Amino acid sequence: MVNDAIRVCLEEKIKGRLNLRNRIYREFRERYGVLSCFPYSVAEVAWSIVKKHRRWQRRPVATRLMLKIDSDKYSWHYGILSLPFKKGERLLIPLQYGDYQRGFLTDNTIKRGSITMTEYIIHIAFSKAIEPAPPLKKIGIDLNEKSLVESDGTKMDLSEVARLHTENGIQRRDFSAKHPNDRRLRAKFASSRREKERVKQVLHRVAKRVVQKAKDNREGIVLERLTGIRYKSRRGNGEGPDRRRRIALWPFRKLQGYIEYKARWEGVPLEYVSPTQTSQTCHVCGFVNRKLKLTERGWLCPCGAILDRDLNAAINIERRGTMPCLGEVRPGAQGTDEAVKGNPTTPAILRAEALKGVS
Ligand SMILES: [Zn+2]
Repeated sequence: MVNDAIRVCLEEKIKGRLNLRNRIYREFRERYGVLSCFPYSVAEVAWSIVKKHRRWQRRPVATRLMLKIDSDKYSWHYGILSLPFKKGERLLIPLQYGDYQRGFLTDNTIKRGSITMTEYIIHIAFSKAIEPAPPLKKIGIDLNEKSLVESDGTKMDLSEVARLHTENGIQRRDFSAKHPNDRRLRAKFASSRREKERVKQVLHRVAKRVVQKAKDNREGIVLERLTGIRYKSRRGNGEGPDRRRRIALWPFRKLQGYIEYKARWEGVPLEYVSPTQTSQTCHVCGFVNRKLKLTERGWLCPCGAILDRDLNAAINIERRGTMPCLGEVRPGAQGTDEAVKGNPTTPAILRAEALKGVS
């Protein structure tokens, strides 16, 4: 149904989710003989795929078998999920989940959103409104290839990510050399999926620690807006091909995304600042060292300050933050009486992955 809707959308140049819904509603109900809630979800999913295709220049097609249902169409009682099926009939699915998921399902302060069902997993979207309290102080975070460094000196090791990428890269290269044409074996032994899952685990763990620490100490998080990192790391910038490969794979933005959504969920304020010359600027006197190379881990400023590259960057990132703090006003901090930008009650979306294998 989604692919049919995508076809209609492209052929008739329909713009917008609501226009698409109005166009297919009657026709799809008759053609597929489904309940009225399905064309609604189909239009939503189809439109999101078409939108992405415009931005990413991909072929617009839904490849995975999935079902999306809005929050007002399903119900959930005592571990049994009830979905609309045919007229007068409902589909009952017993959910299997652990204590972690149960926490979300039984918490009455959390609002349940839509359900997305794939062949193996049911994703339930949750949201809650939070009024973040102003932090006592800001913490700048510098992300580099090997570690995450906070402006108060806290350091978290990320070398495992680089190691996983290097190991898996070598493993895949060797495998392709041995079995160049066996696609079936490659999918089993040399797929990037396992690598990605393990990297994700590491990133979740680090993000959780960062946010928990910020919550415990009432810190606001300041991050760099990392848009040009891959561009900076292009061919001919003096880096070797192996380092470039690792940097290209390094999921900086993914880690930031995890920190962002965990921070929102916990009510920890977070903002992004410009990344321009955060490593090259001396945090003591403001001198800009334009000759600093990417490989140099530290430098001596003419003012006499001995600077650690990552810590210096983290301190500069922290100072660029403009969120209001209750605690001290640091030199360089501006607009301390300015209101928080954006909507302070932005709900966070969390996924509880429940159900594995339903009969
Ligand atoms: Zn200096």
